Amino acid sequence: MLRWLTGRAARDRAIDQALASLDAQVWPQLLAQHRFLLGLDEHSAETLRHHTAWILANKAFHGAHGLQVTPDMRRSIAVQAALPILGLDTSLYRGWTQIVVYPGGFLVARTDTDEAGVVHEYVQETSGESWEGGPVILSWEDARPDPDTLANVVIHEFAHKLDQRAGGADGMPGLRAHRDLDARHWRDVLETTFDDFNAWVDEIEAAIPSHMDPESDAAADWYADLPLDPYAAQDPAEFFAVSSESFFIEPWAMAAAWPDWYGLLVQYYRQDPLQRLEQAGVSGQTAP
Ligand SMILES: [Zn+2]
Repeated sequence: MLRWLTGRAARDRAIDQALASLDAQVWPQLLAQHRFLLGLDEHSAETLRHHTAWILANKAFHGAHGLQVTPDMRRSIAVQAALPILGLDTSLYRGWTQIVVYPGGFLVARTDTDEAGVVHEYVQETSGESWEGGPVILSWEDARPDPDTLANVVIHEFAHKLDQRAGGADGMPGLRAHRDLDARHWRDVLETTFDDFNAWVDEIEAAIPSHMDPESDAAADWYADLPLDPYAAQDPAEFFAVSSESFFIEPWAMAAAWPDWYGLLVQYYRQDPLQRLEQAGVSGQTAP
């Protein structure tokens, strides 16, 4: 009991210190660096500041491949990670402590089994990973604020954390604190939207000329009308993570294509980024 109290007091002190570091000079700059944080009302901004401080105090940041993780880098990652839980509780990020940051994309060993049962082992470059009960791993090159990109690896990996918390990543985060959300309804909307997206991707892939590599830059134009990055077609867990990126960064195309799915995410995250960004006068690259 005593040791628990001492540990708690130390954590409270660490949160106070982190809050103090997000002062009247640092905090507005941090918000301004991330375009998708514009338009927060005073109360939401203060909640975000507290959640950011909680993350800074409760997570240990480690640089990999010689990267020195500076206070600015820590704050940027923490504020981005805090956005998805702005309307939720910091306890959703409990149960693990490490955030590992690589300077750029990093290599991971993967194993796939094909339809013939043959196991393929290969190495793939990636910009982020989230291990169930373990660390979040990020490439700083991809995680740093960049107003021109529609992707957000920090939100992506932390959405996986929310999904994993409910036991296994399957595109359905825990809904225990959401009396207004029904699990079966979530599954139905997720499945319908995921199937619709997959059919859309299949149609595009069938239309791409056979001489063109579907992974090439030239082929990228073919996918430009999709409301989400085609990687979302991988499985429902990736669909939820990629949807969460778009929801917070560039919600226009997704909200127009799938109002039910967007509405469900508004209910889950208890935020409406589309409304907030429009009120703030932010015009998206996919805005009508
Ligand atoms: Zn993912």
